[in-house]
Amino acid sequence: MIHWSPFVQNFKKKYPWVQLAGHQGCFKPGENGMILKKSTEKERECLAQLMKDILRPYIPEFRGEVNKGGERYLEMQDLLQDFESPSVMDCKMGTRTYLEDELAKANSKPRKDLFQKMVEIDPSEPTEEEKRDGAVTKPRYMRWREQLSSTASLGFRIEGIKFAKEVANMEISDDEVMVSFDVVSLFTAIPVNKACEYIRDKLNNDNTLHLRTSLNTDDIISLLEFILSNNYFVYNNCIYKQIHGCAMGSPVSPIVANLCMEVIEELAISTSSAPPKQGDSKPNKDFKKTRTNDDVDSVFTEFVGDDNEIRKKYLRRLKAIRATLESSPFFRSHEVIGSSLLFVHDTSGKASVWMIDFGKTVALKDGLLLDHRSPWQEGNHEDGYLWGLDNMVDIWSQR
Ligand code: ATP
Ligand code: MG
Ligand code: MG
Repeated sequence: MIHWSPFVQNFKKKYPWVQLAGHQGCFKPGENGMILKKSTEKERECLAQLMKDILRPYIPEFRGEVNKGGERYLEMQDLLQDFESPSVMDCKMGTRTYLEDELAKANSKPRKDLFQKMVEIDPSEPTEEEKRDGAVTKPRYMRWREQLSSTASLGFRIEGIKFAKEVANMEISDDEVMVSFDVVSLFTAIPVNKACEYIRDKLNNDNTLHLRTSLNTDDIISLLEFILSNNYFVYNNCIYKQIHGCAMGSPVSPIVANLCMEVIEELAISTSSAPPKQGDSKPNKDFKKTRTNDDVDSVFTEFVGDDNEIRKKYLRRLKAIRATLESSPFFRSHEVIGSSLLFVHDTSGKASVWMIDFGKTVALKDGLLLDHRSPWQEGNHEDGYLWGLDNMVDIWSQR
C-alpha cells in the first residue's frame, strides 16, 4: 500500500549502515556519532596504538571494544557524521593487497568463489587447469586484481565511490504529488536502453520526467520498481546502487525514499524468490579496471566535479598525512596492507580525508623498519604505501 502523506522515518536505525567496501554485516550504527565494526585483534591493537601516535588526527577516534548481541565490536567515530549528503570515496593504498604470511597460508587450497569472481570480470582469464578445477588460489586472484587495477602500477586503487547526486525529487501540492527524475542521472545509473525503453514517451524538453500521481500512479510505481529491481537500495534518504559490494548513491527527498521503501516491502516476496535476470545486474560503473594515471585522474575529477576548492582541500590534507606518515613511529614499524584513505566532501564545501581499515596492518618483527617506498621482495615486507601516496598526490595536482 502506498501512502502519499509526507512523513519522515529514521532510516538510520532501520537499515544497515552504508559502506563502500568490505563485507556486509560487519558494521552497525553506534550511539552519539559512533559506528561499530566487527572486532579483530589486529585492528583493535592498531587503533589503540594509533590513538597514541602522531597520526591520531587522521584516524577515526577510537573508543575501545564493546559487546553487542554477543559479538565484539570496535567503537569508532562515524566520519560521515558532520556532512550533509556526502560524496565518499575509498582508495585502498599500497602495491600489495595481501600480507606476506597470507601468501604462504593460502597457497595450498584453490577456491571456487574466487574463480567465480574472476570469470565474472574476465571469463578468458583462468588457465585451462583453473577452468578444469573451477578454482583459483587466493594469491593468484589477488595478484591478478592488482594488475587489473592501479594497485600494481600506481600503488593504490579506487575501491568504491558514493556520488551525492540527486536522481529524483518529489513535490507535494494540495491534490497531487509530482515526482521528477533527473533523466541524465538515471541514464548514467541504469542501462541506457532499458531506461530509454521505459521513459522515451514520457520525457520532457528539460530532460526531466514528470509524473503526476493524480494522473498516473502506476507510472511512478513501475519506475520505482524498475529502479529497485536493478540493484538499487534505499538508506537514509538516499537511493544507492549496489555494485559488487560498492554502493553508488544519490540522495533523494525523504518522501521518495519512504515511497521506495514501501515498494521494496511490497516487492520483497517476488524479488527474493526470483533469480536475478541475466545482464540486468551488470555494473556499468566499477573501478576494478581503473588502472592508468588518466583513468584515475578522470574518476577523481568526476568525484569532485569542477569544485577546485574541494580539490585543494583534499590535496592539502593528503600532504599533511604524508608528512605525518614520514615521521610516525607506528607507520615505520608496521606493514600496512589493505588500508584505505577515505575521502569525504559535501556541497557546503567541507572536505577531508582519513586513514581507515587496519585489519591487515601488522607490527614488524625483529626491529625491522620500512620506508614504504622501496619495491617489494618477499621477505622485506615493503607495502608501497608512500609510493602510492606520492603518485596520488601527483594525480590530484595535475589539474
Ligand atoms: P575490506 O577489508 O574489504 O576493505 P572492511 O570490512 O575491513 O573491508 P573497512 O574497509 O574498514 O571494512 O570499511 C568499509 C567501508 O565502510 C569503507 O569503504 C567506508 O565506506 C566505510 N567506513 C569504514 N570506517 C568508517 C568510519 N569510521 N566512518 C565512516 N565510514 C566508514
Ligand atoms: Mg577496507
Ligand atoms: Mg579490511
